[in-house]
Amino acid sequence: MNLALTDSSHATAGVKVVRAKSELRSALAGPRGEGRSIGLVPTMGYLHEGHLSLIHAARAECDVVVMSLFVNPTQFGPDEDLERYPRDEQRDLRLAAEAGADLVYAPPVEEVYPDGFSTRVEVSGLTEVLCGDPARRGPGHFRGVTTVVAKLFNSVDPDVAYFGQKDAQQVAVIRRMARDLDFPVRIEALPIVREADGLARSSRNSYLEPADRERATALRRALAAVERGARQETLAAGIEAGRCELAAAGIDPEYLEARDPDSLEPVAELNGRPVLVAVAAPVGVARLIDNVLIRP
Ligand code: AMP
Repeated sequence: MNLALTDSSHATAGVKVVRAKSELRSALAGPRGEGRSIGLVPTMGYLHEGHLSLIHAARAECDVVVMSLFVNPTQFGPDEDLERYPRDEQRDLRLAAEAGADLVYAPPVEEVYPDGFSTRVEVSGLTEVLCGDPARRGPGHFRGVTTVVAKLFNSVDPDVAYFGQKDAQQVAVIRRMARDLDFPVRIEALPIVREADGLARSSRNSYLEPADRERATALRRALAAVERGARQETLAAGIEAGRCELAAAGIDPEYLEARDPDSLEPVAELNGRPVLVAVAAPVGVARLIDNVLIRP
């Protein structure tokens, strides 16, 4: 799909980059008016194969593929890694173009949060467990996510928005927000993309020292142990086996829990429906998350 360039935008390696909501709207007005479908891939950049899988899926299904590139400050806690979050815009634009994105929306912070910004979008309940537990990242993290994603949905008005199952809680929260607020968008959750040794790809993997990078593979092994134990014995036995895998690697998880993937209610036994087993753990200076969906 070729999008005509406006004066204030510029093309990098074949992808059009816009910084302002007004530019975004005018770039999409033509295709939308012609009834073309729009796919949105929200990202914080420092792209890896996980992000690229979302762009590929959007490319395969939609006429116009928009990727947002915005390190959203409101989803970082005061002690989190906002300042050192890895950034490389030129590389991201090149990779986005190669993967098939047509348009990258990369706004400055003031464009998203102008002076006096005072509105928040909050999904209750789902955001208070797992990563949203007040003792962990807390519900403020998801409030930041839903606020920025609601703004992106309003600005882009996509037919389909693509998210990674890697952030399973985020998927549940965004699905609920879209349903509750009547956003006319289909939410697609795509499988976790992993390194050859099983570690889930993450921009934060770049923080890992070699020894921690090696230890981090225990997260995947722990999830596999949970699934094996749950299928062969009980879910509780599986969780125990998963804890042992983590402990063997010297990892003390924030949580390793089984939950319903939609309601995020705790699940005690396999119940004929998919069960989400999610883990979060500090490994060296990084906080890593991973999960598996145990299908019936
Ligand atoms: P982020 O840039 O970390 O905010 O991620 C942007 C999108 O990419 C989110 O929907 C993530 O769930 C998704 N994503 C991140 N890592 C992976 C991965 N390893 N596999 C699949 N999707 C991912």
